[in-house]
Amino acid sequence: MNDRLSAPARAFLAQNRRMLIGADWVDAQSGATLDAVNPADGQILTRFPAAQAEDVDRAVAAARAAFDGGDWPAMRPVERERMLHRLANLIEENADELAELESVDNGKSVLMARHGDMAMAVDFLRYMAGWATKIEGTTITPSVPYIPDMRFTAYTLREPVGVVGAIIPWNFPLLMAVWKIGPALASGCTVVLKPAEETSLTALRLGELVLEAGYPAGVVNVVTGLGHVAGAALSAHPGIDKVAFTGSTEVGKLVGKAAMENMTRVSLELGGKSPVIMLDDVDPAMAAQGAAMAIFFNHGQVCTAGSRLYVHKSRFDEVVGGLSAIADGMKLGSGLDPEAQMGPLVSAKQRDRVCGYIAQGIEAGARAAAGGGAADGAGFFVKPTVLVNTNPTMSVVREEIFGPVVVAMPFDDIDEVARLANDTIFGLGASIWSNNLRKVHRLVPKIKAGTVWINCHNVLDPALPFGGYKQSGLGREMGKAVFDMYTESKSVMMAL
Ligand code: NAD
Repeated sequence: MNDRLSAPARAFLAQNRRMLIGADWVDAQSGATLDAVNPADGQILTRFPAAQAEDVDRAVAAARAAFDGGDWPAMRPVERERMLHRLANLIEENADELAELESVDNGKSVLMARHGDMAMAVDFLRYMAGWATKIEGTTITPSVPYIPDMRFTAYTLREPVGVVGAIIPWNFPLLMAVWKIGPALASGCTVVLKPAEETSLTALRLGELVLEAGYPAGVVNVVTGLGHVAGAALSAHPGIDKVAFTGSTEVGKLVGKAAMENMTRVSLELGGKSPVIMLDDVDPAMAAQGAAMAIFFNHGQVCTAGSRLYVHKSRFDEVVGGLSAIADGMKLGSGLDPEAQMGPLVSAKQRDRVCGYIAQGIEAGARAAAGGGAADGAGFFVKPTVLVNTNPTMSVVREEIFGPVVVAMPFDDIDEVARLANDTIFGLGASIWSNNLRKVHRLVPKIKAGTVWINCHNVLDPALPFGGYKQSGLGREMGKAVFDMYTESKSVMMAL
């Protein structure tokens, strides 16, 4: 594998990595480490620290020192904007190496990592850089009628919330890191970032770029380790002011409860089971392509993956037939193989979890129209799978599988499909495919989801708020909305 990597990526993997606390690269105090594993072949890439609570304490102290009386929150907004641009430029300059590290650590295609993840990360940081100079309060003329002989004026200030504990998942490792640090840094906050234990490498490389960009010590700290150890210590830490979490709904609830103990501000971007709705006017071949993109992008390891496909019964056989043919024709292989159309899942555990769901579905009466289990070989591959003959009570229909598995179901009319689409605890995304404007606009308000795409799926932009209804989360990232979560509002009232 190593001979397919560039010299900078090989050099990064050639030594065990340390984590970033303040301006120092350190081991865990216990000396414990975790393995970074290549999911395409199960080989160890390098090792990195397994932080415990005491390491989290040190990182929080470093971030606190950088915030309280530190240079970063006191910096003029335009200087923070320039610093964010500097970091975006460094990510761009090192995007080939970062994409290679992402590919071997996560399993995704190096091309997708380079032109998807890294390009979006740069774009997102630049968008957030622009906000540093645009965070503003309001002026208000209060009435205070119960003090008739006095007049008042008032204004609000938006102040950085403080030290942010950011906990992120493994599906878009560097992009998720940037989603958190972008608005935090633009607001003047300092950060302790805890990447997923499956994919910590690009967060550590990002830490190097933060130092190279000249950020003051402690503004960004990267602490690696297990979720139930380092992540739990961070979310329950009384020294942080906000937890920004992206991950599963199950862990999100634990994080939310831990944060609430200290009344720490919390935002949660959680799981999904997003419906893809094909109305009766779709072109079956295009619909099959659209459905395939919606579920198989990033091997189905996407929070908004289109994992429930509802097709009008008049088009069902053609669309599902086309989708199954696409699934059967996909070439599986390492993310470094330019011919491969789908890589391995992130870990053996994730492969086994996904295959367990497929087996449960088949046991309960579903039929695999394509795929149906793991692929042979040393890597953690799962065949792209299309399940039919499902019913709404099956676990494959109700639970987030987070792999390349879609359940396909026919429907009759719009009210029925709206009811089926909303029959879930989740509410992250949904897509509607049709050129019938009247039907589309009747359906959009009925769908309980944070994002509804029309004739596309999984398309994100930093200007558009993103987040979940129901158990898909709390709060909105992106756009102006994200700054409500990284700032406090202070009301200032003055007697005239
Ligand atoms: P996960 O919940 O298992 O882990 C996410 C992060 O939480 C990791 O860093 C992990 O180490 C940490 N963690 C685990 N246990 C913890 C605990 N007890 N306390 C504190 N932190 C803990 O999720 P995952 O498997 O890494 O990622 C997949 C999930 O993420 C899916 O459910 C997916 O839908 C969701 N996701 C959501 C979005 C979104 O924006 N809504 C984006 C990407 C992924």
